[in-house]
Amino acid sequence: MKKRILVTGGAGFLGSHLCEKLLNEGNDVVCLDNFFTGQKENIVHLLRNPYFEFVRHDVIMPYMIEVDEIYNLACPASPIHYQYNGIKTIKTSVMGAINMLGLAKRIKAKILQASTSEVYGDPTVHPQTENYWGNVNPIGIRACYDEGKRCAEALFMNYHNQNDVRIKIMRIFNTYGPRMHPKDGRVVSNFIMQALKDEDITIYGDGNQSRSFCYVDDLIDGMVKLMNTDDFFIGPVNIGNPIEFKIIELAQLIIKLTGSKSKIVKLPLPQDDPLQRKPDIDIARKVLKWEPKVNLEQGLINTINYFKNIIQ
Ligand code: NAD
Ligand code: UDP
Repeated sequence: MKKRILVTGGAGFLGSHLCEKLLNEGNDVVCLDNFFTGQKENIVHLLRNPYFEFVRHDVIMPYMIEVDEIYNLACPASPIHYQYNGIKTIKTSVMGAINMLGLAKRIKAKILQASTSEVYGDPTVHPQTENYWGNVNPIGIRACYDEGKRCAEALFMNYHNQNDVRIKIMRIFNTYGPRMHPKDGRVVSNFIMQALKDEDITIYGDGNQSRSFCYVDDLIDGMVKLMNTDDFFIGPVNIGNPIEFKIIELAQLIIKLTGSKSKIVKLPLPQDDPLQRKPDIDIARKVLKWEPKVNLEQGLINTINYFKNIIQ
């Protein structure tokens, strides 16, 4: 059955892929974004679709609409973007959540929160399970994002417990793919752009820190599956690829796949940079019957091809 769906942050990397999938499934999609980190290029191909609407709006201000479902993705996601204006990042997470939860309560919509593995901070439990409470520095440079997202999760739980709002909390682990912003400073986009230009590949620290990289199509598949679960399942649920790589291994793979002449250089590790990260996805496997399908090499090839096109 056709649903009316609001996607906040819909002009961003993940949001634009989500809008596309929801439209392909026959829904009516309203994409809300203030273009802080999103780009018109991400959604321009959707504007011709009569079931797609774009609204330029900031989630820190209330917004009224009648929809069946809300995906709340609005928030800068890369460290350089969320640290650019930390106060705004906190407002976006917290006031954005309050506004969207208030809307969901009023119109009785189901609402999904794009939370993050950053709620686990620099984890002392490995791999990270959903019942781990995390290790976050509340006054560090990542706090605006980490604590903002933690507060948003608390708001979701309280609206659910006090007001019966139908919620889903999804903890997203590092995701990459076409439409990442080429200058967002995240490791996959940085390394690919550097490799394609034969510039130095900048490894922060010794490169032994790890991340687990999920391809965007897998992630969006998990997100929609979570929204479609029965109301009693609210999460939180980790969605990410459990195969862990060291940052140095990622650099070497990208150099190999691009045939680049780039050299690896080492720069200081930023404050509070998590040493390791890998999701435990047992809950996603059992409840959503979901697991990632695209391996890192294939996902990187698709992403490299995307960046090659935008460089030209
Ligand atoms: P992105 O920066 O590409 O997308 C975020 C979108 O939100 C952008 O289009 C931006 O313009 C919009 N936005 C930001 N502040 C806004 C505001 N105040 N009002 C309206 N729109 C606003 O990032 P992304 O990677 O697509 O991330 C999407 C969501 O997923 C974010 O909430 C992020 O925290 C979460 N997430 C992403 C990852 C990842 O690896 N990509 C990991 C964990 C969590
Ligand atoms: N990183 C790096 N070089 C870069 C960009 C990032 O070595 O040019 C490292 C960063 O220090 C971190 C990892 O790669 O350890 C992932 O960084 P990213 O910003 O992509 O995401 P997050 O730290 O939020 O997981």
